[in-house]
Amino acid sequence: MTPLARLILAQIDADGPMTLADYMALSLMHPRHGYYATRDPFGAAGDFTTAPEISQMFGELLGLSLAQAWLDQGAPAPFALAELGPGRGTLMADILRATRGVPGFHAAMRLHLVETSPTLRQVQARTLEGHAPEWHSATETLPDLPLFLVANEFFDALPIRQAQRSGDSWRERMVTRDGDRLTPALSAPAPLPMLAHRLEDTAEGDVIEFCPAATRIAAHVGAQIAAHGGAALIVDYGDWRALGDTFQALRAHAPADPFADPGSADLTAHVDFEALALAAAPAGHTRLTAQGVFLERLGIAQRAHKLADALSGEAQQAHIAAHRRLTHPSEMGTLFKVMGLYPEGAAPPPGLLG
Ligand code: SAH
Repeated sequence: MTPLARLILAQIDADGPMTLADYMALSLMHPRHGYYATRDPFGAAGDFTTAPEISQMFGELLGLSLAQAWLDQGAPAPFALAELGPGRGTLMADILRATRGVPGFHAAMRLHLVETSPTLRQVQARTLEGHAPEWHSATETLPDLPLFLVANEFFDALPIRQAQRSGDSWRERMVTRDGDRLTPALSAPAPLPMLAHRLEDTAEGDVIEFCPAATRIAAHVGAQIAAHGGAALIVDYGDWRALGDTFQALRAHAPADPFADPGSADLTAHVDFEALALAAAPAGHTRLTAQGVFLERLGIAQRAHKLADALSGEAQQAHIAAHRRLTHPSEMGTLFKVMGLYPEGAAPPPGLLG
């Protein structure tokens, strides 16, 4: 049994069954034993790979889209360039390199990173050396400036709750003790006011997921963009409206039991983009585009050709495979979506519209 499993069992003995959200938060972010708090999980040697770790083209194109949105809004100075959950800092490093040539962008920019893991903050500090980022534990302390923000595979790591429809009420999926093991169990039915809008589109027994932390963060980002200008590009797997159980654990690139050995596997769920859009509504517009389509509109094919010309042999093959992996519908192209947030009256960041 992991130390974290012992700790969670003791907490359940003291307080009763815990929500999936509390279980996820402890498993991922417990300061001593949490998954992100203790390791750098990315890459072939880790548990999963993300788009910026697959190819530099991802960050370059996202960066240029944001820089164009900044130009379209009159190049406000100063402005905050922010990232939620920067991982190794690779995406931001690619954004910074790609935008070096945009006149005035770097001079006006203040770099802000929202990251809770001390281990990953250290990695980010090394990757982004020379750019003087300021770290935050939550979006609430981001400065009151025009906000140009990216988040890749951030929202899927936030703690979700799950509820099963029962009449006009819901039974919540809780985590409880079964002997020496942790196991899911349903609570007694109770009304959940925040799910009132889901009584329309669900039937008896349907399972839905909701993510209070995601709603809070999207609301804050939306409010900042509405008040000060800016734009956000939020990339993740998921769909417009979440239905069904998408809670999963990943260890060494393979699915694992999410209730065994908490702290040792990555736990995620699909992102409900409608919930983010509703929460961010003050920002004005939201748009959802498939990642493959988004990158193609921004010219990933031309960029890929140019990079391929400078490569040969295995490196060239790997580069071609990476391009396919980011864009092809059977790989990340369709499952992953890009949601853009931008103010009323402003042009959308390029890539969101055809
Ligand atoms: N964007 C990176 C990393 C994605 S993994 C990439 O694409 O490679 C999720 C990231 O979010 C990690 O950096 C993790 O430490 C961070 N994170 C998870 N929950 C967080 C929270 N509640 N607040 C801030 N950062 C969080």
